[in-house]
Amino acid sequence: MTVEVPAHSTLAVDEAMIAALAASLGGPLLRPGGDGYDAARQIFNGMIDRRPALIARCTATGDVVKTVRFAREQGLVVSVRGGGHNVAGNAVCDGGLMIDLSPMKGIRVDPAARTVRAQAGLTWREFDRECQAFGLASTGGLISSTGIAGLTLGGGFGLLGRSYGMACDNLISADVVLADGTVVTASADEHADLFWGLRGGGGNFGVVTSFEYRLHPVGPILGGMLLYPHERAKDVLRAFREFNASAPDASSVFAVLMTTPEGAQVLALIVCYNGPIEQGEALLRPLRERTSPLDDLVAPIRYEQMQTLTDEGFPFGLQNYWKSEFLKKLPDEAIDLVVDRFAATPSPLSAVVLEQFGGAYRRVAPDATAFGHRDWDYNFLIISRWEDPADADRNVRWARDLWDAVRPFAAGAVYVNYLEGGQEGASRIRAAYGANYDRLVALKDRFDPTNFFRLNQNIQPGPRPNA
Ligand SMILES: Cc1cc2nc3c(=O)[nH]c(=O)nc-3n(C[C@H](O)[C@H](O)[C@H](O)COP(=O)(O)OP(=O)(O)OC[C@H]3O[C@@H](n4cnc5c(N)ncnc54)[C@H](O)[C@@H]3O)c2cc1C
Repeated sequence: MTVEVPAHSTLAVDEAMIAALAASLGGPLLRPGGDGYDAARQIFNGMIDRRPALIARCTATGDVVKTVRFAREQGLVVSVRGGGHNVAGNAVCDGGLMIDLSPMKGIRVDPAARTVRAQAGLTWREFDRECQAFGLASTGGLISSTGIAGLTLGGGFGLLGRSYGMACDNLISADVVLADGTVVTASADEHADLFWGLRGGGGNFGVVTSFEYRLHPVGPILGGMLLYPHERAKDVLRAFREFNASAPDASSVFAVLMTTPEGAQVLALIVCYNGPIEQGEALLRPLRERTSPLDDLVAPIRYEQMQTLTDEGFPFGLQNYWKSEFLKKLPDEAIDLVVDRFAATPSPLSAVVLEQFGGAYRRVAPDATAFGHRDWDYNFLIISRWEDPADADRNVRWARDLWDAVRPFAAGAVYVNYLEGGQEGASRIRAAYGANYDRLVALKDRFDPTNFFRLNQNIQPGPRPNA
């Protein structure tokens, strides 16, 4: 059975009730035309231009409880915004109520226990800044303006992941506002089944207002970029693949085909060695000697600095269309094809990324968390980006054609946080969860049987008797 999932609902709510909601909240309730409304509805992907009827800028869990109850009583579609980074654009709805968590920035590190309690509006930059003040960190994404919430709920990988696992593997507990407005804490000891689903199942089960993570002593690290001209990309990617195949878990190297601001196509290796600097230098020496980078920008740096290294290249507001897939293998044929196709990209803003997995990701059983894609060495990501909305067709086509060409090497498994909004369909959501999908449907049946939280990569409740 397929259920229509509208991204909008119309507002037919009594003004007095809206005023009462507004008066009860700690943060402002924004409406079209009001101060701050347009800024609040803007998200990372400039292709998404939706107009919620109401935006609740929540400051605390109580605000979220009230907005969830209100939306439920009034039959409004809700969307939930953490950092607003997801390219699918599900953080914003048309005509419904957007629960905007971005004002919720509380964070408290417990240095002795090596844990942190972090509210859902934090970005990785804010999170890392505070944790690094204590010499600590946990796995987070590579671009520091990304929200901790959406990233963690979809799984969350990053440069520390081969050392410490996914962001969700470091989750100890989460406070969640459920679809009926009740608040629970989910952890290995309380609501353990919900806790399992939150670690990869996205926003399907409730609104998480804060996360508690395990931290690790991190930094300084050996990190930065090695740059090569596009003409040498095929050889360097072979060396990259061989280097990664035997590298220890402390080493993470991602490869990015991109265009410099000066217009030159290059291959960048993004390197992070999370261990003693001398050991990292010794490990990297053969790779540096074999590949002779055009520019060698790898040096001892603070982890926090590493996490902002590529930020400038990822501003909010560009047109974004992403396609991705885990790869079952990375043979020469795949490398050559990707390098050749990248040369024909219609936009200098586009990039192709090979994200290294393995290490600690693999040491967690595929059914231990809702995120189950633990076996693959690489995730392959096409970031198609351009400025003028009129250029959409050729940029989308380029990404789709490249993705089609790579299909013979694909694992049939996709990272939920890279899925498009809506167009990819239910089969791709299944591909994001594989064998864990049925258990997620059973959880949805228990925690959100009416699919109140549906503006996400939606796990639809199972068919109900008499429905
Ligand atoms: C430039 C860029 C770089 C990225 N790099 C990485 C990376 O290195 N590693 C990685 O793993 N991923 C990466 N991603 C993908 C990223 O994990 C997702 O886009 C993620 O959803 C972003 O989280 P957010 O809170 O910013 O997003 P939002 O758009 O705010 O949220 C995405 C969805 O998550 C749900 N959600 C958000 N907050 C909550 C909450 N508190 N409670 C319940 N549901 C919620 C909602 O369904 C929402 O629609 C990157 C994305 C971009 C655009």
